[in-house]
Amino acid sequence: MSPVPSADSRRPAIPRDLARVGRLGAAGYARYRWMRLRNRIFRLVNLVGPARHRCPCCGWRGARFLDFVRETRVTPGIVCPRCRSQPRHRALSAFLVDHLATLPVDAAVLHFAPERALVRVFAQSPRLRYVGVDRDRRARDLRADVTALPFRAETFNLVLSCHLLEHVRDDTAALAEMARVTIPGGSVLIMAPTVRDCETRPTIAFAEPDWQGHWRNYGCDLLDRLEAMKLRARLVWLARVLPPGQQAELAVHPEPLFIGEKPARPS
Ligand SMILES: [Zn+2]
Repeated sequence: MSPVPSADSRRPAIPRDLARVGRLGAAGYARYRWMRLRNRIFRLVNLVGPARHRCPCCGWRGARFLDFVRETRVTPGIVCPRCRSQPRHRALSAFLVDHLATLPVDAAVLHFAPERALVRVFAQSPRLRYVGVDRDRRARDLRADVTALPFRAETFNLVLSCHLLEHVRDDTAALAEMARVTIPGGSVLIMAPTVRDCETRPTIAFAEPDWQGHWRNYGCDLLDRLEAMKLRARLVWLARVLPPGQQAELAVHPEPLFIGEKPARPS
């Protein structure tokens, strides 16, 4: 689930900045502000620089993706200036466009913790019946708990969980709910942080959530757990099929997507 906004993020700017100085120290705070300012400079560069990059979620083109700036960590060149997509959203976007084309007219889609970048991808298929749910105010259509969904069984053709499951303490209940609301012939798509070599190594769970609120990093046993929910499970590597030039253009790299397909009923 998307993290509930912290009390700190709701404070007015000046007290918030003073709190940052307390956490980071004067030098750390100055560095943080400089990193934020650099992103403003990159936005100006994008007005005049060559359009080397493209975002498939929103269609933005420009010279450089923005840096992802957090108080103690900066990841350079990964955020779309228009829709805030990150590499995982852009890699998933290409997969979704192809997948949505296979769905029947008026197919129903359930999207947890809807990221703005991916909502734009679904909006390109206006015939979809789209429902975006979250536990907090970020919900587009409905507030709901992924471990107790207010939907009848076999409602959705596609259920998408992108970097949600790792925040859920009882992820077995969440997986069961995802499988329950998926119609026969439909699919559950799961992206989540994984261990290295997740195709062969199991999930590592934490006794308490880490600094990002994650209870675990997933491994190959997630496939077994999807199978236990009577879904046919497989793992695909997003963006791996793209030529290197296109991976660079979109600033994406191979990312694992866990897929659970509910077998269709025999006709
Ligand atoms: Zn974008």
